Amino acid sequence: MPLPRTIPCPVCGKDIPAKAKSCHHCGACDKTGWNEETTAADGLDLPDENFDYEKFVQDEFGEPRKVRGKAMLWKITATVLLVLTTILIFFNALFR
Ligand SMILES: [Zn+2]
Repeated sequence: MPLPRTIPCPVCGKDIPAKAKSCHHCGACDKTGWNEETTAADGLDLPDENFDYEKFVQDEFGEPRKVRGKAMLWKITATVLLVLTTILIFFNALFR
């Protein structure tokens, strides 16, 4: 089933191509501000420009910044071990 290739113009409501940069019915375009609405409707959730990464990390993981490097090293080690184990199990099952 093909996806709908038209969207309703946010200004006049008539169907226009989904990738159209302007409406050929009413002439609305990015410059008239309609693109903001379509972007929001698409659910394009771009991160805030004022996004404070350091604060986010502290809030999320609740650890002071100085131990982050060591914690990250352990995370990488654990991930590598997990991947290796998964590969070993996979190949064991495959070439039994
Ligand atoms: Zn229009």
